[in-house]
Amino acid sequence: MRRVTILGATGSIGQNTVDLIRREPAAYDVVALTGGANIARLAEDARALGADLAVTAYDDRLEDLRAALAGSGIAVAAGTQAVIEAARRPADWIMSAIVGSAGLAPGLAALEQGTTLALANKESLVCAGALLLETAQRHGARILPVDSEHSAVFQALAGEDLAAVERIVITASGGAFRDWPVERLAGATVAEASSHPNWDMGQRITIDSASMFNKAMEVIETREFFGVKPEQIEVLVHPESLVHALVGFNDGALMAHVGAPDMRHAIGYALHWPERRALPVPRLDLAAVGALTFRAPDEVRYPALRLARAVMETGGLAGAVFNAAKERSLDGFIAGRLGFLEMAAVVERVLDRFLTQGHHVTAAMTLDNVSETDHVARMWADEAMAERAG
Ligand code: NAD
Ligand code: MG
Repeated sequence: MRRVTILGATGSIGQNTVDLIRREPAAYDVVALTGGANIARLAEDARALGADLAVTAYDDRLEDLRAALAGSGIAVAAGTQAVIEAARRPADWIMSAIVGSAGLAPGLAALEQGTTLALANKESLVCAGALLLETAQRHGARILPVDSEHSAVFQALAGEDLAAVERIVITASGGAFRDWPVERLAGATVAEASSHPNWDMGQRITIDSASMFNKAMEVIETREFFGVKPEQIEVLVHPESLVHALVGFNDGALMAHVGAPDMRHAIGYALHWPERRALPVPRLDLAAVGALTFRAPDEVRYPALRLARAVMETGGLAGAVFNAAKERSLDGFIAGRLGFLEMAAVVERVLDRFLTQGHHVTAAMTLDNVSETDHVARMWADEAMAERAG
């Protein structure tokens, strides 16, 4: 039996992972599930999967979790440190599906036990890619991509020589506002930004899709995962969301990954890797689809893409600054303190401030420095938001 742990089990990726594991109960020994405020969901899944341990990230929810799991024999714990401890419990495969930079420390703890980490938490790669990769290498651990585009690239690269890769093209649906006139974007509401045309995901990543901050993060993620140069990475708007990525080789060939927009494909590929096994995802009828369309992204509509280029050029801790400012401005947008287009303006302001005070950006990439940078960038984002409001 494979021992598996799901960090962020109650979220969108976590639930898709639970779905796959639940279909083959005899194949898996579930070590730990972690979640947040949704105690009922966490407890129900911990019982259904027979987990050894259930952890809520919130200290004040411990008693609720204890009550929900009374009599089950399942151990309970709460708090940030308890989530990290859950990641340290020996397991053969750990899903990293916490949202935001909160996923970094548990991801590192998982890698330190030399496990296979299925990485959905792209924020940790953006904040501290070098640290994650180096930790994996030092402990003989492996990181497998779960983001659909990166899973697609990974699959297109199977059996290929990285030296033969000319470019990597990741596609973007264009999000909720792809067909809106640019003038309307400034007034876009949270509700409007929270509905995705093709994918059913958590609210934060859905809004990040509308602003293309998600794609900007994924460009950086591509660079970290596959070690290619920034200029080898392209973004292509593809409204149908059926081609997830393409890899261009030195003989002119483009290998595309095509599939239904269902995250269980990428999760399942990482779960069964290096094998490919049957998965319960919809099969595509391309004759019914008819046409696949592509267009270049408009950097006026999507300033986040331009900011990602600047982050890659700077390197070091710029990714941590970018992510933290983005998370904070997203909080601001959700809370109604910032307009939709102001998110990018705040992130740019914070990045500029860091670039002019370069020592933060060039400091060594340790967990402490990343956390400190994350903290300062959030403070600066708050200041930038307050300035705009004032
Ligand atoms: P979600 O909001 O649906 O779920 C997030 C999970 O993290 C929940 O279990 C929540 O309880 C937990 N969590 C939140 N804050 C936490 C904290 N401070 N400490 C510990 N746990 C915390 O998010 P999601 O859409 O499932 O996304 C998870 C990750 O996967 C993100 O990094 C996202 O970018 C990435 N991702 C998601 C999708 C998708 O289809 N949803 C696709 C690609 C990548
Ligand atoms: Mg993606």
